[in-house]
Amino acid sequence: MKLHEYQSKSLFKEFGIQVPQGLLITDTDDLSAKIEKINGPPWVAKAQIHAGGRGKGGGIKLANSLEELKSAVRDILTKPLVTPQTGPEGKRVKKVLLEEGVDIEKELYLGLTIDRSLASPVMIFSPEGGMEIEEVAKKSPDMIWKEYINISTGWLPYHGRNLVYRLDPLPDKSITGQIISTMAKLYRLFMELDCSLAEINPLVITKDNKVIALDAKINIDDNALFRHKELQSLDDPDEKDPLEQKASLYNLNYIRLDGNIGAMVNGAGLAMATMDLIKASGGEPANFLDVGGGASEEMIKRGFEIILSDPKVKAILINIFGGILRCDVLARGLVSAAKKVEIKVPLIIRLEGTNVDEGRRILSESGLSFLVAEDMEEAARLVSEQVLKSN
Ligand code: GDP
Ligand code: MN
Repeated sequence: MKLHEYQSKSLFKEFGIQVPQGLLITDTDDLSAKIEKINGPPWVAKAQIHAGGRGKGGGIKLANSLEELKSAVRDILTKPLVTPQTGPEGKRVKKVLLEEGVDIEKELYLGLTIDRSLASPVMIFSPEGGMEIEEVAKKSPDMIWKEYINISTGWLPYHGRNLVYRLDPLPDKSITGQIISTMAKLYRLFMELDCSLAEINPLVITKDNKVIALDAKINIDDNALFRHKELQSLDDPDEKDPLEQKASLYNLNYIRLDGNIGAMVNGAGLAMATMDLIKASGGEPANFLDVGGGASEEMIKRGFEIILSDPKVKAILINIFGGILRCDVLARGLVSAAKKVEIKVPLIIRLEGTNVDEGRRILSESGLSFLVAEDMEEAARLVSEQVLKSN
């Protein structure tokens, strides 16, 4: 689960990490009264969406007067924000974080995540903060410094010294002390909240020698959410893909992808193999959908409706190996979905297994138009051909 910057900063505060004074708003009502509580001008208005790179996209605006602030907030709330991570259509912003402007001396990067190959938390520190850290990692990997932390001993002060004393020139003792202390607090937050990522980019040194988290990003491990009832309300449905959200209502394992071939498969392994075959035959999957072994007619129907409502989908492949999920149940689900929504794209079906004859009979008597594939390879080939034809 991803958290917004304003949510992450309020957790930072709880753990003693310094953040600018701030206030969350959703409109410009009573702005002059509200902003009185925040040091400034200058103030900074920050769009609250999950995508990064807001600075470059116009989602972070500095204002030197109330008038400027008002127009900055209006701008953010009315125009979709386009960043390298939102896609060209951009994202509507509903919440804006107002903050005191900070006089920046230097921008650093500080992040904590899990290195999966070593199964270890890793603290990442860089003197090249502010811009995209991915770019720094590509262009000057020697500027990305890492410290692996043994979870049985936890964070130790020498981890911090190893990172901070690489700064050149070395800031004064009060600043290095504040950075090292921020690292220790970030580690405690990361472990206590079961994070998969806790990132401060930039962590700034201010002109008056304070160390402040100017940006904040926290991702919580979904598998640990059951231990954090207090965090569950931080989930923002506005940030989710609407089709994925719908799918989760019906307990369907659905993930939207960038391609144009919709797929409905039973079993995660078969679904992965089907996606591989689609790619191998030159196509691009529009989704991963595992309807699972025990899918009901209703779930099949809902899954099919979700695929049909994705405007990117140019052809659909249904690949079912009936085991616990019987082929006749699948067929009835498809037919009942097709009664509700007109199917305008080619449909390729490969059915095998339990009750396959009855399943085929239901499909052929339904008046539904579809192509039959004898095996998976043929199915993938047919569906990719159909998409090429339609282009
Ligand atoms: P991101 O682009 O989505 O990562 O948003 P950030 O919160 O990191 O802001 C991007 C950049 O805006 C920062 O790297 C700073 O250079 C600048 N910025 C943000 N807040 C302030 C501020 O209070 N004062 C100044 N001078 N610059 C700021
Ligand atoms: Mn940032």
